[in-house]
Amino acid sequence: MVTYLYRCPDRHETDLDAPMGRAPRETDCSCGRSARRAFTAPMVRAVPAARGRVMEAAEQSTDRPAVVTRPAPDPAPMSFTDPRHALLPRA
Ligand SMILES: [Zn+2]
Repeated sequence: MVTYLYRCPDRHETDLDAPMGRAPRETDCSCGRSARRAFTAPMVRAVPAARGRVMEAAEQSTDRPAVVTRPAPDPAPMSFTDPRHALLPRA
């Protein structure tokens, strides 16, 4: 499967996965208009920074997963701020 990029007349971008060479010429955009296939350089398309960080972290996790060496600290005790809780019976 290859991810193809489509743009509607309002410049919304839509990705569509299709077998190589079988991408439709147009697809429906989320705005309801028809989006035409756009041509970009392969794998050079800019990736948003947040998405890039997630992809990089996932890739690193595959090779060198972070290992937990000690348990997480105990959570802070719950504090009740409602004064009516003081009137409740204690177990
Ligand atoms: Zn659109």
